[in-house]
Amino acid sequence: MGSKTLIASDVDYDRPGKQQGYLQVPFSDNEAGWAKIYIPITTVKNGEGPTLLVTGGTHGDEFEGCVALMDLAYELRAQQIQGRVIIVPALNLPAVQAGTRLSPLDGQNLNRAYPGKYSGTLTDMIAHYVSSVLLPMTDVFVDIHSGGKSLYFLRCCSIHRVPDGAQFQRMLAVALAWGAPYVFIYADVAGEGLLATGAERMGKVVVGTEMGGGGQCDPEALRMTRNGIHNVMIHLGLLDGTLNRHLDKSVVISAPAEEDYRFAPAHGIYESFFEVGENIEAGTPVGQVHFPERFDRPPERVVAAKSGILVARRFPGTVRQGDCVAVIARPVEEA
Ligand SMILES: [Zn+2]
Repeated sequence: MGSKTLIASDVDYDRPGKQQGYLQVPFSDNEAGWAKIYIPITTVKNGEGPTLLVTGGTHGDEFEGCVALMDLAYELRAQQIQGRVIIVPALNLPAVQAGTRLSPLDGQNLNRAYPGKYSGTLTDMIAHYVSSVLLPMTDVFVDIHSGGKSLYFLRCCSIHRVPDGAQFQRMLAVALAWGAPYVFIYADVAGEGLLATGAERMGKVVVGTEMGGGGQCDPEALRMTRNGIHNVMIHLGLLDGTLNRHLDKSVVISAPAEEDYRFAPAHGIYESFFEVGENIEAGTPVGQVHFPERFDRPPERVVAAKSGILVARRFPGTVRQGDCVAVIARPVEEA
């Protein structure tokens, strides 16, 4: 690894077999001037084949990927596979320990920190390790997310519509192989620096998920996550077997425009009129914000700009002005 990173790893990615160890991220705070944060990592390698990097816990309040990948890291044996699988169940471990979206140690969002910094905050350095060490050896990157504590999603795989058509088709094929009810083609409405975007620019096949949410371990989302990772490994030829899909074919939906993402007009209590998966007509109120301190102020409605399926809704009862409360997508035909 040379001088590419300040993070030491006690696994050798080139060595065949199964290894489990830690990424050791240098850290310093008021409790310990010289410290390290240990992030568990598993690498499983056998024969020739593609490299799959699977990560969970990019956001610390999204537990579905973390749990499914801890199981996978425990169970997967080298003799089962052809290729290499690198598993990091809790990429932003301090955030997972705290159960918060952002790192409690530096206040940063790992999924806005790409490409990271060689010598920066803890989050910058984790992002830098992913971009400079893990991604260059990766063919397919699967980053498992959900709505966390703030949103509840229709369980889906999620991909960007990247400009390279061939790359997009490979991403779509992996997402369809997962076997979730929906594949959601999403737009970035909340900033830059996403791990997925960085990996896509490197030409990688990148697939995310939004496996429910609410900051819980929903049993159905967990089943779908475990099964989806297994299906992806079969699709890539890493594992033998046949796909165990939820449905014959996932419905592909897309929310490409800013207006597909609806935001709270004011602080208050958000009432969603619909559950995820329901159809909504353009011009229909999707929910409303109540003002508990004002008996004379009627609730303020949030209206769907276009018709479609409710893909995500606000999860907690309270909202601040500008928080996303609804995402509405439409089915699209993909080859
Ligand atoms: Zn997330």
